[in-house]
Amino acid sequence: MPEFSFELNEEQKSVRDWIHGFAQDVMRPAAAEWDEREETPWPIIQEAAKIGLYSLDFYAQQFFDPTGLGIPMTMEELFWGDAGIALSIVGTGLAAVGVLANGTEEQIGTWVPQMYGDANDVKVAAFCSSEPDAGSDVAAMRTRAVYDEAKDEWVLNGTKTWATNGGIASVHVVVAVVDPELGSKGHASFIVPPGTPGLSQGQKFQKHGIRASHTAEVVLEDVRVPGDCLLGGKPKLDERLARERGARSTAGAERVKNAAMATFEASRPAVGAMAVGTARAAYEEALEYAKTRTQFGRPIIDNQGVAFQLADMRTQVDAARLLVWRASWMAAAGRPFNAAEGSMSKLYASETAKRVTAQAIQILGGNGYTREYPVERMHRDSAIYTIFEGTSEIQRLVIARTLSGMPIR
Ligand SMILES: Cc1cc2nc3c(=O)[nH]c(=O)nc-3n(C[C@H](O)[C@H](O)[C@H](O)COP(=O)(O)OP(=O)(O)OC[C@H]3O[C@@H](n4cnc5c(N)ncnc54)[C@H](O)[C@@H]3O)c2cc1C
Repeated sequence: MPEFSFELNEEQKSVRDWIHGFAQDVMRPAAAEWDEREETPWPIIQEAAKIGLYSLDFYAQQFFDPTGLGIPMTMEELFWGDAGIALSIVGTGLAAVGVLANGTEEQIGTWVPQMYGDANDVKVAAFCSSEPDAGSDVAAMRTRAVYDEAKDEWVLNGTKTWATNGGIASVHVVVAVVDPELGSKGHASFIVPPGTPGLSQGQKFQKHGIRASHTAEVVLEDVRVPGDCLLGGKPKLDERLARERGARSTAGAERVKNAAMATFEASRPAVGAMAVGTARAAYEEALEYAKTRTQFGRPIIDNQGVAFQLADMRTQVDAARLLVWRASWMAAAGRPFNAAEGSMSKLYASETAKRVTAQAIQILGGNGYTREYPVERMHRDSAIYTIFEGTSEIQRLVIARTLSGMPIR
C-alpha cells in the first residue's frame, strides 16, 4: 500500500540535482550576458545537448514520469537557473508536445527528433498559434489552411505572432483554420518542415524580460506542405469536423468556446513550475542579502519588517509549488480537473513570481534596482508568467466557469 508522501524518489532527486548543477554552473554565470545580448544562447543549448539535458529522450522520460513530477521538477530547476536561457532550452518542448498530443506515431518519429537536432548540430522548434488579433481569443484565428486535393498538399496563409523560436526554428508547428464555421473547433495543426518556401520571420520583438529567448512573428505566404504534415492525418480530421458540425447544431457556439479554453489546461502546471523556479531564485537571493547587509549596526533581517516579508515570500513559493504538484499529479493519474486545478496552479504561481521578485528588489534596496544583482532581471522575467499560456484573467475565467458552470464573460 503506497504511503502518502511529498518526497521525491531517489531517481528524481538525482535528476533534480543534476539539472540544478547545470543551472548553477552553466546557466547562472551566463544569464546577465544573454539577457543583454537579447539573442538565443546557442552555445548553452549545445552544452545542454552534450550532457543530454536538451534531447527528446530526456523530456520524454520526464513527460511520462508516472508521478507527474518529472516536468515540474525539471522546469523549476531550469528556471531557477535563468528564465530566458531556460525558455530557449524548453521552448522546443512546446512544439514537441503539440506533435506528441496530436500526431500519429509516424509523425512523432519523423518530426520530433528533427526539432532537437543533435549535440553537434542543435536545432530548435516553434509552436505558432497566437496571431495579432487572436491572443486570448483563440477562436478569432485567421490563418487559413486549404487542402489542394489534386496535389495532396495543404496551403497555409496568414501571420502568426509571439512565436517562441519563430523563424529560427527547424520545424514550425502551425495551428490554422480548416473550417471557419466551427470557431476554435475548426482548427488543425500542421508541420512546416525545415526550409519550406513561403515561411519567413517577421518582426523580432525586443522584450521586457526573458530576453535570451527569441520571440518573433512568423509570416506564411502560400506555404505548401505535403498532406501527411497535417497532424493526426486527414481521415481523423474529417471525422472530427463532421462530429463538431453535428455537436454545433445542437449545443451552440458557447460550448465550442468553452471547450477551446480548457484545451491548454493540462500544460499550465508546467508554466506554473517555471514561475516557481524564478520566485524561489529571487527569494533565495533576498534571504542571503538580508542576512549579510548591515544597517543600524545589525543585519537587516533582524528587523521584523524584513524578516516577515521573507517568511511570506517562502510561504507563497511553497504554496505555489504544492498547487503545481497537485495539478501535475492529477494529470498523470488521469484525474479530471473538475475545479480547473491546472489553471489554479498557473494563476497562483505566476502571480507569486511577480510579487516575490518585486519584494526581493525591495529587500536589496538600491542594489536590487541595478543590473549588478540578478533580482532586477528576475523581476522583469517574471512578468511573462501572467501573460503566456493564458493570461491571469483568462485563468480566472476558466476557473470561475468550471466552478460555476456558467458562461461567465
Ligand atoms: C514572450 C512571449 C512568448 C510567447 N510564446 C508563444 C508561443 O510560442 N506560441 C504562441 O502561440 N503564443 C505565444 N505567446 C503568446 C501568448 O500566449 C499571448 O500573448 C497571450 O495568450 C495573450 O494574448 P495577447 O497578447 O493577444 O493579449 P490579449 O488577449 O489582447 O489580452 C490583453 C489583456 O486583456 C485581457 N483580456 C482579454 N480577454 C479577456 C476576457 N475575456 N476577460 C478578462 N480579461 C481579458 C488579458 O487578460 C490581458 O490582460 C507568447 C507571448 C509572449 C509575450
